[in-house]
Amino acid sequence: MSNDPDKHTAPDDTPDNTPDRILRDIFGYPEFRGNQQNVIEHVTNGGDALVLMPTGGGKSLCYQIPALCRSGLGIVISPLIALMQDQVDALKQLGVAAAFMNSSLDIDAAREVSRQVQRGELKLLYVAPERLMTESFLNLLERLQQTNGISLFAIDEAHCVSQWGHDFRPEYRALTVLHERFPAVPRIALTATADAPTRREIVERLALEQAQQFVSSFDRPNIRYRVTLKDNARQQLLSFLETEHADDAGIVYCLSRKKVDDTAAWLKEQGWDALPYHAGLDAALRSKHQSRFIQEEGVIMVATVAFGMGIDKSNVRFVAHLDLPKSLEAYYQETGRAGRDGLPANAWMAYGLGDVVSMRQMLMSGEAPEARRRVELQKLDALLGYCEATECRHQTVLRYFGEDHPGNCAQCDNCLEPVDRWNATQAAQMALSCVYRTGQRFGVGHLIDVLLGKTTAKIEQFNHQQLSTFGIGQELAQQQWSSVYRQLIAAGMLTVDMEAYGGLKLNESSRPVLKGQQEVWMRRDAAPSKRKTGSAARGTRKQEAFAAANEDRLWLALKAKRMELAREQGVPPYVIFHDSTLLEMMDRHPGSLAELARISGVGQGKLARYGDEFLKVFEEKL
Ligand code: ADP
Repeated sequence: MSNDPDKHTAPDDTPDNTPDRILRDIFGYPEFRGNQQNVIEHVTNGGDALVLMPTGGGKSLCYQIPALCRSGLGIVISPLIALMQDQVDALKQLGVAAAFMNSSLDIDAAREVSRQVQRGELKLLYVAPERLMTESFLNLLERLQQTNGISLFAIDEAHCVSQWGHDFRPEYRALTVLHERFPAVPRIALTATADAPTRREIVERLALEQAQQFVSSFDRPNIRYRVTLKDNARQQLLSFLETEHADDAGIVYCLSRKKVDDTAAWLKEQGWDALPYHAGLDAALRSKHQSRFIQEEGVIMVATVAFGMGIDKSNVRFVAHLDLPKSLEAYYQETGRAGRDGLPANAWMAYGLGDVVSMRQMLMSGEAPEARRRVELQKLDALLGYCEATECRHQTVLRYFGEDHPGNCAQCDNCLEPVDRWNATQAAQMALSCVYRTGQRFGVGHLIDVLLGKTTAKIEQFNHQQLSTFGIGQELAQQQWSSVYRQLIAAGMLTVDMEAYGGLKLNESSRPVLKGQQEVWMRRDAAPSKRKTGSAARGTRKQEAFAAANEDRLWLALKAKRMELAREQGVPPYVIFHDSTLLEMMDRHPGSLAELARISGVGQGKLARYGDEFLKVFEEKL
C-alpha cells in the first residue's frame, strides 16, 4: 500500500487528462451525473459558470475535474474549515495532490503549503476567503500565474455572499478582486441554495454576468419526507429510531440548547450513542463531538441549527426535527444533509399545535421592521403549509422553489398513505365564533373546553357556560378540535396574540369564513392509536435491500475493514469508500482486482491501496 498519495498525479498535462478518463480512472465512477458533464466541459474550456445543485448532487467534481484537466493550480474558496480538511483527505485518498490553507494550520505548515504552491506540486488548494484576500497571498497567486499558472477559481458555498441568506460572510463580498486581478482565469461559483433572489445576488456581487448558469433539479428522490403529528415527541422519536435506524448515524434538531442537552441525555439513557451540539458548549467539546460524529459510525448528533454547515458525511441516514425549523428553505437544507450518498434516507419531523402557536407568536413578538416581517410571515406560511399539506411533499417543496414535480413520489407519507380531507367549514365557523364570544383572549385549551361544554374552574370564573358557543361542539372529540385550531392558525385564519400570552384573535382572513363566504377544507389527522410512527407501509426495493444489508455478516465485515483502514489513517470511513460502493461490492462479490475496479467508487488510486484488503474479506468466505 502506498502511503504517499501526493505522488500519484503528475501536475502537468498528460494525454489521459480528458474529463471522461479522470472520472473513470481517478474517481472510479462510470458516468457523470446530471449537469456535471456540461459544467465540466464549459469550465475546462475556460468559461465562467454558476452551478446550482442540491446537496449531494456532486458539485465538487464540477471544479475538481476541470482543475485536473487544465494546467496550473486550482484554487477553491470555501468558508468551512472542517470541510476543507475532509475534501483534501478525500482527494489525497484518490491520489490527487491537494492541500488547504486556513487558520487551523500553524506557521510552519502554512509555509510548507506555500512552498508546494511555488514549486507547482499541487493541483488543488483549498483556501479560506480571509486568507485569500491577504496581500501576501494575492502576490503569491500573481507570481504563480507567471510560472505554473492558475487553472481556475472555484467559489464554493457562493450564497455566503448574500446578506439575506442564512450564512452571510462579509469576506465573500471582496471576492470580485479575483476577477479584477486575474481576468483570464475561469471562475466557477457553486451553491445549493435554490431561490432566485439569492441567485441574482450571487451574479451581481461576484460579477458573474457573463457566466453560464447551470441549474439542476433540486429534487432529492432518495429522501423520504414525513411529518408526524406530535403526541409524545420523545417516544415517537424513539420508536422511529428503533424501527428504522437502529445502527445509523443521524441528526436530531431541536430549537433550544436546553432541549438539545435534555434530549441527548435522555437518548443516552435509552442506550443510544447520542451527543449534544450547540453554540453554548465549549469549543473543544463541540469539536470533539463533531469529530466523533464524522469519524465513527452510528453516532446520533442532537443539535441546534449551529450544527450541520460543512458536514459532508455522506452516510447520514436520517434527519429528525423535534421542533419546527425556521423556514422551508432551512428545512430543505437541514434535511438535505441526509443521504448525500444517494442511498435511502429519512427526513422525519414531529409537529403539533404547540409548534404552530409558538412560531406564530415568535413572529408577532419580533422587532423586525415591517418589510422584513412580511417576508418572514410568508416564509412561515410556506413552512406551515408544508406541514399541513395533503399532497406529495416532494412536489410541495419543489413548487416552493419554483420547480415542477409530477407528484406521486412514493417517497413521502402523503403518497405512501394518502390523507383524507374533510369539509370543515362548519367546524371552523364554530371554532372562530368561540374565539369571538370569549373575547379574543384565550388559548386553545380553554376554547375547546367551551366548545365541548366542560365545567372547569376557568369556565365558571368567566361565566362561559352562558355563551351561545358553550357545548355546541360535542360532535367532535378534543383531538379533532385541537386539529381544527391547529389548521386554522397554520392557515393564518387566527392570530396568536403576544400580549395576551398566546390568546387567539380573529383577523381579516377569519371574516369570510364566519360569514359563510368561504369553504374550509382540512386534513383528517389519523387517530393517535392508528398513527404509524414506524416505517411507512410500502418501501422501495432499494430501501429494502439497504435494510437487509444491515443484517448481513458480509456487510458488517466490509464495514469493519473500512473502519480499520480509516482508523489507521485518521480519516472518516466514508473517505475510504462510500456505503454505496460497499453495497455494490456485496452485490457483485468481486474475485479479482479487475472485477473490483469495475465497481463505482473504486478508482485506480484506491484499487492500488485497498484492493487486496477488500478482496481478502471476500476470500474469507463469509
Ligand atoms: P455536493 O457538494 O453537491 O453536496 P459532493 O460533491 O460532495 O456533493 O458529492 C456527493 C457525493 O456524490 C460524493 O460522495 C461524490 O463522491 C458522489 N458523486 C459525485 N459525482 C458522482 C458521479 N458522477 N457518480 C457517482 N458518484 C458521484
